[in-house]
Amino acid sequence: MAQGVCVITEFREGAFRRVSFEIASEGRRLADELGEPLLAIALGAGIESLAAGLGNYGVDKVYVVDDPKLEDYRAEIYVPAAAEVLKSLDPKVILTAASVDGKDFSARLAARLGAGLATDCTELKMEGGSLKAKRPMYAGKAFAWYEWSDGSWPQMASCRPNVMDCLAPDTSKNAEVEKAQVEVAEGNETQVLNIEKDAGGKIDLTEAEIIVSGGRGMKGPENFAMLEELATLLGGTVGASRSAVDSGWRPHADQVGQTGKVVTPTLYIACGISGAIQHLAGMGSSKYIVAVNKDPEAPIFSKADYGVVEDLFNFMPVFIEEVKTLKSTC
Ligand SMILES: Cc1cc2nc3c(=O)[nH]c(=O)nc-3n(C[C@H](O)[C@H](O)[C@H](O)COP(=O)(O)OP(=O)(O)OC[C@H]3O[C@@H](n4cnc5c(N)ncnc54)[C@H](O)[C@@H]3O)c2cc1C
Repeated sequence: MAQGVCVITEFREGAFRRVSFEIASEGRRLADELGEPLLAIALGAGIESLAAGLGNYGVDKVYVVDDPKLEDYRAEIYVPAAAEVLKSLDPKVILTAASVDGKDFSARLAARLGAGLATDCTELKMEGGSLKAKRPMYAGKAFAWYEWSDGSWPQMASCRPNVMDCLAPDTSKNAEVEKAQVEVAEGNETQVLNIEKDAGGKIDLTEAEIIVSGGRGMKGPENFAMLEELATLLGGTVGASRSAVDSGWRPHADQVGQTGKVVTPTLYIACGISGAIQHLAGMGSSKYIVAVNKDPEAPIFSKADYGVVEDLFNFMPVFIEEVKTLKSTC
């Protein structure tokens, strides 16, 4: 009989990705609503010794698949391995990350399990013993609640990174760890030849807590140095609107929006960005939005928590100096 909630973690370069703790925290909440256990499946290479730590985020028991072949995400080995473990666990609810790899993984896994999948969810709850999932539609213009109408298990949801609250880690709690009895396939279909990292070791926009973004109002690529300086001071990273990218001022990897990256930082500072719907689609779920724009009618102000109506070339240098002063006195 189906029981419990199961989260499938993401592991990269020897550490769980933050989204794993977010889905574990969300899973804990749902498991408590059901009054049932929270399980996790951790797949990766060299993952076993870290698995118990998922207990800090509310996981009761972790099933580990630790294999050198799982060093990099490859659908043809990750999906069957996870599906095999899930078959024996038979959970009611499965949560995954709607990260770049997670989107690919979740869709394939749902198809293999014959499960209904709500993708890129921003809120979940149990209602009448069944999962309800909220997800953005029409580039974030509207939200819809989804339910699994036939009531069958498993009900599966992938969760948008940086949206769901993470529990404060309780280091006194460790999860029980069990090696899953799974044969990891050779997976000769694809090979990861090389992973190209940003030369400057830039924080991934989708993982960043703080983003300082610039648009056409920046007037040219050289002025992004100002945003780089502020981002470094704040421990964040730099993003851009499509106009800035199309103008060749920033690489495409920096683009935030409908055809760029969907980001959900705690703080998003938009400088010289008008706030077109396609841009808002990428950053509208940020926790706090600060907009700097000389046009008081700019649409970005309707989304912003704090607005600065000013020429950014007057405001930003003063603001950066203030941040420096604050940092030196803290
Ligand atoms: C299918 C499709 C997909 C798209 N995808 C994306 C996407 O992923 N991401 C994205 O960003 N856009 C996307 N766009 C483009 C989007 O519609 C806008 O054109 C774009 O976001 C505008 O960028 P911007 O705000 O930098 O420029 P603008 O709209 O030109 O705004 C510049 C802003 O800077 C302000 N400004 C100018 N000078 C100063 C100054 N000195 N000080 C302060 N403020 C100043 C102006 O008042 C203005 O509000 C897409 C469009 C389409 C059709």
